[in-house]
Amino acid sequence: MSKVLVIGCGGVASVAIRKCCQVSEIFTDLCIASRTKEKCDRLAQALQGKTATHITTAQVDADDVAQLIALIRDYRPDLVMNIALPYQDLTVMDACLACGVDYLDTANYEPENTDDPAFRAVYEKRCREKGFSALFDYSWQWAYRKKFEEAGLTAILGCGFDPGVTQAYCAYARKHEFDRIDTIDILDCNGGDHGYPFATNFNPEVNLREVSAPGSYWENGHWVEVPPMSIRREYTFDGVGPKDMYLLHHEEIESLAENFPEVKRIRFFMTFGQSYLTHMKCLENVGMLSTTPVRFEGRDIVPIKFLKALLPDPASLGPRTHGKTNIGCIFTGVKDGKEKSYSIYNVCDHQECYREVESQAISYTTGVPAMCGALMLLTGKWKTPGVHTVEELDPDPFLDALDRYGLPRRENRAPVLVDA
Ligand code: NDP
Repeated sequence: MSKVLVIGCGGVASVAIRKCCQVSEIFTDLCIASRTKEKCDRLAQALQGKTATHITTAQVDADDVAQLIALIRDYRPDLVMNIALPYQDLTVMDACLACGVDYLDTANYEPENTDDPAFRAVYEKRCREKGFSALFDYSWQWAYRKKFEEAGLTAILGCGFDPGVTQAYCAYARKHEFDRIDTIDILDCNGGDHGYPFATNFNPEVNLREVSAPGSYWENGHWVEVPPMSIRREYTFDGVGPKDMYLLHHEEIESLAENFPEVKRIRFFMTFGQSYLTHMKCLENVGMLSTTPVRFEGRDIVPIKFLKALLPDPASLGPRTHGKTNIGCIFTGVKDGKEKSYSIYNVCDHQECYREVESQAISYTTGVPAMCGALMLLTGKWKTPGVHTVEELDPDPFLDALDRYGLPRRENRAPVLVDA
């Protein structure tokens, strides 16, 4: 028996909600609340008669802490799942603290307006001190650690696939496969084809900000930053085949570097097709990725928001996308005095996801872990006061839940290494 409030009703939230509704013995009551209530109502309508979960809907502007507090006090959930955008992480955490409720999200905080002078000052200091220049980092949410601990509340950050499952894979490798891990390579391959020359698989604004930023990786205790898309490798993925992949900065490297200080190198690679890269470069060159408003015919327009309005809605890609994703980690290290390598990953089929939850695999691979993370919290397995990333928590029941609810693991004890 539990009551869960889900904030957001986009591509990822829709999958998480549909999966919660498959486990109605735990998720007995669900409130879907988002900026556009019609989307919540449409989803609730689609699920009517197909689940024993009792669903209600609400309108909320999650940028407004007072509105969130009023909604939480009214609904009295056991857990708030924040699956809106990273811009809302801090306001939702504030509201959870004010109301004494546990918290879970799928992406770490970044501000909507990156020109805000208050953000800029903290950001520039962090770039200098830490040595990577992505717009997002964990410092904003780690600043809530003591508050959540003292309130006896649990906050789980970044419980999607990457971040999320990839860190559970790291925790699993450390617990069962290695005495010492030396290197971690996280590989995110999307072998899906949606037939459009250019579209993003999740929120375009968040996706394009991430991909157009300089790449960076963790090596020997410090960050190494490189120009965007300047490190390329070809890799052959199980279920997909050969793909070009590029080194990116990614949020889980930051928390893994803190929680796995013994690891010498942590990198993240993502696959991109040439068409995606050419379009992105062109859009960047003409200023369409900018978050700074421009004056156009008497009104201010934020270029990347305008671009988002032109691009296909990621939630609409489901029926058109064919192929598979393969996301996971490759480790090297030592077990029982012997050098070893090991990989653990999931292969997910876009069309199978669509048949099950009417969504493509990117939303599926994020929404299912969000549901499984909520399941861990609601059943007490991850109830640990404080603010935590997934590698800090017991990976075993979480990976078992993923095996059961749609993202089974595969293992390879002789994986091809990235630099082989
Ligand atoms: P979408 O853009 O599809 O959905 C976002 C939802 O949030 C929409 O329903 C939107 O409402 C709602 N929303 C936005 N602003 C507000 C607000 N101020 N108040 C209330 N609701 C709001 O995004 P995705 O579903 O693609 O992504 C969701 C999250 O998942 C993002 O944080 C993304 O970064 C993360 N993600 C994580 C991954 C992982 O592996 N960890 C992978 C992919 C995504 P409206 O309908 O009005 O626009």
